[in-house]
Amino acid sequence: MFQAPRGTQDILPQEQPYWLFIQNAAEATARLYGYERIDTPVFEEAGLFVRTVGVGTDIVEKEMYTFKDLGGGQLTLRPEGTAPVCRAYIERGMASLVQPVKLFYQAPIFRYERPQAGRFRQHHQFGFEAIGEGDAALDAELIDMAWRFFQELGLNKLTLQINSIGCPVCRPAYLAKLKEHYDEHREELCEDCKIRLDKNALRLLDCKKTSCQPLSELAPRSIDFLCVECSDHFSKLKSNLRILRLPFEINPGMVRGLDYYTKTVFEIQPEEERGQSTIAGGGRYDGLIEQLGGKHTPGVGFATGIERIILNLKKQNVNVPGLPKPSVFVVWMGEEAGKAAARMVGDLRAAGVSAVTAFTARSMKAQLRQADGTGCHFAAIIGAEELEQGFITLRDLRTAQQEPVDFSKLVDRVKITGIETL
Ligand SMILES: [Zn+2]
Ligand SMILES: [Zn+2]
Repeated sequence: MFQAPRGTQDILPQEQPYWLFIQNAAEATARLYGYERIDTPVFEEAGLFVRTVGVGTDIVEKEMYTFKDLGGGQLTLRPEGTAPVCRAYIERGMASLVQPVKLFYQAPIFRYERPQAGRFRQHHQFGFEAIGEGDAALDAELIDMAWRFFQELGLNKLTLQINSIGCPVCRPAYLAKLKEHYDEHREELCEDCKIRLDKNALRLLDCKKTSCQPLSELAPRSIDFLCVECSDHFSKLKSNLRILRLPFEINPGMVRGLDYYTKTVFEIQPEEERGQSTIAGGGRYDGLIEQLGGKHTPGVGFATGIERIILNLKKQNVNVPGLPKPSVFVVWMGEEAGKAAARMVGDLRAAGVSAVTAFTARSMKAQLRQADGTGCHFAAIIGAEELEQGFITLRDLRTAQQEPVDFSKLVDRVKITGIETL
């Protein structure tokens, strides 16, 4: 027997209302802020992620699905959504459009991680990117959009944390201090952190191991090393977030797991799970487009994990609207009635009423049971008597009330009940 690969899941029909609910909320929110949809390929050249996400990050070191295709190219299944969008921005000449270019996507994300609740090897994200504007007002608007998205979904008890991790001007001095701090405690570090210390010191703050936590708490803070430009940017961000009445906290230890961030980083988390389950995270990436060979172009963005959102919708018992079921099940008895049923199902569908029927001759009882199982509102019954006299027996499956309806009137009769049409 085959099984789905570890860390993947089938999204079954009963889960689909959650997905549609989130998709609708994300698209409505995106439109509200002037973002347009973009779709990029599921795989890209491996180098795109190695160069942008960064050597020494967990993603590049241990989590990417990289493979050689038959032409010998090194390809990687998308482990995050920002680099592909920036690649498209450059390749498709979007620098010549009105800036900032605001884009959103829904995409599967692939990371070879240890599967656990809400964490999959294929998971799905909504991402939002605004490219071509460096002002902190844009960061604030983006964070406001993220916050509104969760309000739209009906998720409560969330925290918003922000930080600034500086720029290429001020970060070297900070990194030196950070290294110094951890170097003094080298022996206490976990094996991964010993490597991080040499390769990518900012990642030290990311370590989730309890043995490394106390060191992170005592570590120097990037906000104490900001240059004038970064410091002004961070001040404006805070002031704009206050204008928008967003309840933010400053978390000086938050750096996010990607190398390309500059200045603003932020995360939104459920209150009770502080740090354990981020449902949205992002930040500014002013050097990224340049790193990919484009002109210097600032950008800012965030992504949300759909599976994590669903987990939280369920935890908070948020009511999600169900999907419409078929409206009419046409029940038939006998060969001639079967032909009439086939025609009737066709007429109903042509009129925009969703209708289903049995494919082979079965007892009336079996067909009514089937009609119940499909969740139909009505059963339209055609037997010998009905066929002869040109009417159907329309049974409301919720009230069990029956009435005769003329063949030619059926479509109108089920339409005026206000049931869902396609
Ligand atoms: Zn700076
Ligand atoms: Zn560690």
